[in-house]
Amino acid sequence: MSDYKLLIGGKLVDGDATMDVINPATEEILATCPRGSERQLNEAVAAGKKAFKAWAKTPMAERRACVMKLADAIEARLDEFARLLTQEQGKPLSESTAEIAYTSAFLRYLASLDLEGRLIEDNDNRRVEMRRKPLGVVGCIIPWNFPVLIVAFKAPVALLAGNTIVIKPAPTTPLTTLRLGELCAEIFPAGVVNIVTDQNDLGAALTSHPDIAKISFTGSTETGKKVMASAASTIKRITLELGGNDAAIVLGDVDPKVVAPGIFGGATMNAGQVCLAVKRVYAHDSIYDELCDELAKLADAAIVDDGLKQGAQIGPLQNKMQYEKVKGFLEDARANGNIIAGGEVMDRPGYFIRPTIVRDVKDGTRIVDEEQFGPILPVIRFTDAEDALERANASPWGLGGSVWSNDRDKAYNLACEMESGTVWINKHLDFGPNIPFGGAKQSGIGVEFAEEGLHEFTQIQVINEAR
Ligand code: NAD
Repeated sequence: MSDYKLLIGGKLVDGDATMDVINPATEEILATCPRGSERQLNEAVAAGKKAFKAWAKTPMAERRACVMKLADAIEARLDEFARLLTQEQGKPLSESTAEIAYTSAFLRYLASLDLEGRLIEDNDNRRVEMRRKPLGVVGCIIPWNFPVLIVAFKAPVALLAGNTIVIKPAPTTPLTTLRLGELCAEIFPAGVVNIVTDQNDLGAALTSHPDIAKISFTGSTETGKKVMASAASTIKRITLELGGNDAAIVLGDVDPKVVAPGIFGGATMNAGQVCLAVKRVYAHDSIYDELCDELAKLADAAIVDDGLKQGAQIGPLQNKMQYEKVKGFLEDARANGNIIAGGEVMDRPGYFIRPTIVRDVKDGTRIVDEEQFGPILPVIRFTDAEDALERANASPWGLGGSVWSNDRDKAYNLACEMESGTVWINKHLDFGPNIPFGGAKQSGIGVEFAEEGLHEFTQIQVINEAR
């Protein structure tokens, strides 16, 4: 029997089965937790459906107050949640602490938004009003890289708008989310928030369920395509936040010493398992060698260790499957470039790979063209910025990107030409709940955060009245 529980219809319940959760820093079993069944998923959706009518009619101020209470409750347990997150996810405690603190901050900011309709016309002829109504039960599908924060991208806006939700964490990182469920059980009316775990086997049942009105999905492009196909059967609303292959274009006028830490940090946060991480660097010929050397120095100096160890800067890869995948990218890097730092898995238990810098590598190789989702950074040489831009854009993805230069106009013009949802100038990986976030091309559909994100959880209704 596990002390973790699913949350279904306001009750904390055991799963129909159990599953083990592995600590990626030790490869040992961290905890046994409930594994939901299709029957339990259906129960959760039914509970969401039952609770929907009353929740949708609950004044917005009350719905807002519930989300704010959740933010307070998480903050009150910040240290405990952060520790558990490091143990199940692998990231250093400092990053887990930031993730939990951001979770509260996102809940608070997004719950403070207003959902306003609009009076379009009011005259002798007609009165036309646009309202925004909730959709119904929303399925929130969460990946393993930011298992708690990504819940806070979806839940507050879904709930504020009057929807009820079923959250499905990733199989390898369910624990902190289940702890969150304990808090939700005390705060929300029964059925408003439901949490069901799986072993990658309930996604299709959730995305095709006739009583699910919308799917808000964060994960890989491959799975996103399945979600989209599955949602088509009932014309569900979908928001897809998918993969990326963010390019950093570094112009020749920068000081490599100055820009290297920002690029390196943007590539190795959470061991590179960030959708918006720098995944390839295009560096101008004139600074290429020096930038490679600076990045290699940072990689050599990085402390890679169990995230609970004081001073650890980079933790293990989150799970064995990802570890094996990244090892494949190391082989590709060895075959197609020169590895000047890292390049090895670490000789110890746990899914540890040292940060790796690969130089003299070209487009058209796996390490450049695919999303490695690990601590490996290829650096590609260019001589003409327009050519670098074209190569950066020659990707099916378009999540983020960055331009690094001391020439503001040049950087701004290149940034505007990048085919990505977010482009930074002289930084990478900076976002917030007030800034709409979404991917171009195969990096997604729709946006999260801000009013634009909130609107995605509503249906527009027009009331057109004769005068
Ligand atoms: P994944 O696609 O394997 O899994 C994501 C979630 O989908 C998990 O909860 C999983 O159980 C579930 N799932 C699996 N099969 C499903 C199906 N057939 N139908 C519905 N759901 C299903 O992704 P992952 O490996 O957990 O996460 C890594 C990927 O996520 C990377 O590509 C990364 O770039 C992307 N990501 C994107 C963002 C973003 O906001 N754009 C944020 C974080 C991660």
